[in-house]
Formats: sequence, structure tokens, C-alpha cells
Amino acid sequence: MDYQITEFLVERDRERCTVCRQCERQCANGVHHYDSKLNRMVADETKCVDCMRCTIFCPTHAIRIVKNPQTFRENAGWRAENIQDIYRQAESGGALLSSMGCPKPYPIYWDKILIGASQVTNPSIDPLREPMETKTFLGNKHCPIERDKDGRIVPNSHPLLELSLPILFSGMSYGSISYNAHKALAMAAERLGTFYGTGEGGLHKDFYPYGPHTIVQVASGRFGVEPAYLNAGAAIEIKMGQGAKPGIGGHLPGSKMVGDIARTRMVPEGSDAISPAPHHDIYSIEDLRQLVSILKEATGYTKPVIVKVAAVHNISAIASGIARSGADIITIDGFRGGTGAAPKRIRDNVGIPVELALAAVDRRLRSEGIRDRVSLVVSGSIRSSADVVKAIALGADAVSIATSALIALGCHLCRTCQSGRCNWGIATQRPDLVARLDPEAGAQHLVNLITGWKSEVVEMMGGMGINSIEALRGNRAMLRGIGLTQPELEILGISHAGA
Ligand code: SF4
Ligand code: SF4
Repeated sequence: MDYQITEFLVERDRERCTVCRQCERQCANGVHHYDSKLNRMVADETKCVDCMRCTIFCPTHAIRIVKNPQTFRENAGWRAENIQDIYRQAESGGALLSSMGCPKPYPIYWDKILIGASQVTNPSIDPLREPMETKTFLGNKHCPIERDKDGRIVPNSHPLLELSLPILFSGMSYGSISYNAHKALAMAAERLGTFYGTGEGGLHKDFYPYGPHTIVQVASGRFGVEPAYLNAGAAIEIKMGQGAKPGIGGHLPGSKMVGDIARTRMVPEGSDAISPAPHHDIYSIEDLRQLVSILKEATGYTKPVIVKVAAVHNISAIASGIARSGADIITIDGFRGGTGAAPKRIRDNVGIPVELALAAVDRRLRSEGIRDRVSLVVSGSIRSSADVVKAIALGADAVSIATSALIALGCHLCRTCQSGRCNWGIATQRPDLVARLDPEAGAQHLVNLITGWKSEVVEMMGGMGINSIEALRGNRAMLRGIGLTQPELEILGISHAGA
């Protein structure tokens, strides 16, 4: 017996519905169908995930999806979600799976930080009339001047990534997202003068031309890793962890390991692709240093190496170790970071907000005098240009976005990416669904989004009297907290509003 209650209801305005069956064609979850006896559309609401596809595509706007007001007998201790999860697990005996980022109402510190502005003294700058520098370089900038015995300067600079603005697209694997979503990200990164990441799924041969704007990933499963792959990208990212599921590995079931996805990952068709929780050759910073060195050696010391970690307790000590491993860039992924599939309990209970992690890491690296040896990139909850400005003022060199990018591509946050039936053609490999996302239109949306953010970033910088990202970086004097406790203010390194 199934104790579940239908989560969403389909309300159809019979006056408006022309029985064109568009909703039936649009819903990959098989909710709508035509009942010939009744000569009208009917819905199996138990399958609806509220992705809004049918609502948006209904030509007469006849459909509304609403949250079912009928719920479980909640009380202060037992919320509907707790009860529903118990029914689900009592039925399945398995771990609960979900996707995207943590939806719990933990504090979002970006929303508790306010940005300053110049008034009277230190005048503001008009970004429409004055040059504003958003160019950003990522990598090891520690290059003390050295001379050989004849007094000539010895070249000792490290390879850097040059971004036209401090925003990248995070790694999302081909397999977790579709070919067309991947292509849209690659095209947008190239047009914007920034980078996108392959995630752990390897690099499809069609995307090699975008290599100068690609960050290739080496994860614990080593999928798709070979010399040509490493050399195709502009930088290499070692994924030690990710914010949505810190401390655990990944699993793409054999049923999804088909065709190009299997070939790109270099995994036999039909076999499960399991990324172990740890890298089986990394148990210390010395081990990490070896992998960093191997990757640099394999690519002729021409590409920066990034180490991506989840924001967890002791992140500042972890980052300090990574900075000493020879890595050039550290990506810190906060616990609200998205994913195609993660155990729900891990996603919602493990990790820490990236804002606190960033502030702690920046301070620690500065206090140890090694901040210039690594760049810091933060991800996992960057939703707007204001979050970008706050992250940079808190010490980040750049931010990386994934969920925001997917929303720009049409994601409606239904949080069922793990089903493989994404109606918007993003988190799916079903050819008919993949075709719904036009890569050209998707790339244009991404370019528009980031172009819009860029104008807002320079406007906020101008308002502060700052004309370069370099001058904004770590400039915490420009930030004030609102409604924060003293320990929170201390960790963030900012004063309270009014001070
Ligand atoms: S799953 Fe999406 S397309 Fe299907 S009925 Fe629900 S909202 Fe409509
Ligand atoms: S990517 Fe698709 S399946 Fe995943 S949350 Fe967005 S709309 Fe839903």
C-alpha cells in the first residue's frame, strides 16, 4: 500500500482547453492524456513534478499546477516532508535521492550582507563614462624576481587563466547534463571570454575546439582522462569534493552509460560509472602534491591546476594544505551547490555555507603569507551580480555558477534531474528531450545573463568609487552585516550595518 499524497494538482480550465494535446506531448512524465470516452484531457497527478513545461506551452493558458493543500498531519516536530520521507523509505528500503542544491532554510549570508557606496568624499565613478576593469587572472601570482649569475631575469611566472570578467561556469558532466546544454555552455564561455568545466564526464570530441575555454576535470573515477584530454583544456581541475555531496562519491547507473556518454567517459556501455568517495591515491597533502605535479608534467607546465573542494569544517586548514601542494587555484563549493543526483540527507545536512568558508580561507592564507600563491574561486549559491560583488569583496578572485546558468537555459528547478526526464532538455539524454534545448539560443541566454550581471557589477563598483575587480578583491570595508551575530561578523570579517 502506498501512503504517499499527491504533491501537486493539475487544474485545467475546461472552458479554455481545446484538447489540442500539446500538454501530453510536452510532459515526459506521462501526466496528461486524452480520454476518448470523456473527450477531454485528464491527468495522472501522482507523476507531476511541477516542472511548469505544460503550463508554459499550453497555447490557451488552460493549465495551472498548484501545491496540493491536502497534506499530512503536521505538527511542530513532524513536518510533512519528514512523514513523507519515512513512507518513501519504508516502501523502498533505499537512500533518498534528490538533485540541485540544499533547499533548507539555513542562513544565506549573501542576503545578510549589504554593499557600501560613496557619498561626498571618495566620489563614485560613472561606469558609462570611465573605464572599468573587470579582467581577472587566476593562478599562482607569486613570482619573486630572480636573476641568473649574469644578472639576467630568470623567467619564473606561472601559467594563468585570463577571464574577461570574474565569472566562470562550473563543471557539469556530459551525462548529468545533455549534449546541447554542454554545447551552450561551451559556446557561451568562448563568446564571453571565460571558461566552463567538463565535470567528471570527459570531453566529447565535438567540444575539443572549445578547449581554450574549457577546464577539464580529473575526478576520483578518472573518467575520460588521457593525455589528449588533459592537453585539450586551458586548465585542469582535480575534484576532491563538491558542495552538494561532500565526502561521498558519485554513481552514474549502467542504464545511462550508452553511446557517446560511454565513449566520452571511456567506460564500457552498460557498466556503472562509480566515482569512489576518495581518490584512491590521495591520503595526504603530499599525495595531492604528487597528482598536481603529474598533471603539470603531463601538460608541459603550461596549464594551471585547480583543486576543487567542498566547504566543510576546517576548510581554512584544508585550503592552506592545498595551497602548499602546488595547486594554482582552489575552488570552494558551498553546501547549497547543485548536483544531478545526491543522497538527500547528505545534500541537506553536510557542509557549510560558502560565504563563511571563503572568508575563513582568505584570512588564513593571508595570515600565512601564501595568498598570492593561489586564486580562490567560490561556487554554490551565486544567484545574482550582487552575490558576485559580495564574494569578491569577501576575498574571492572569481565565482563559478551552475544552477544560475541552468536556470538561464530554461531549468525550472523541479529538482528531479536524477529521473533523466528533464522536460527542458537539460538533465536528460533522451534524444527527443535533448532536442528541446537549442544550443544557439541557450548560449545567447547565457551571454545575455552574464552581460547583464557585468553591467550591474561595474555599476556597483562605480558606486563604491572602485574601478577594478583587483581593487574590490578582499575589500571588506565595503561590506556591512545585517542581523548577524558577533561570531558570524567575526568569521566574515565585516562590521555590522551602522558601524
Ligand atoms: S511534470 Fe511538468 S509537464 Fe508534466 S504535468 Fe507536471 S508540470 Fe506539467
Ligand atoms: S535541470 Fe531539468 S530536471 Fe533538473 S531541476 Fe532543472 S528542470 Fe528539473
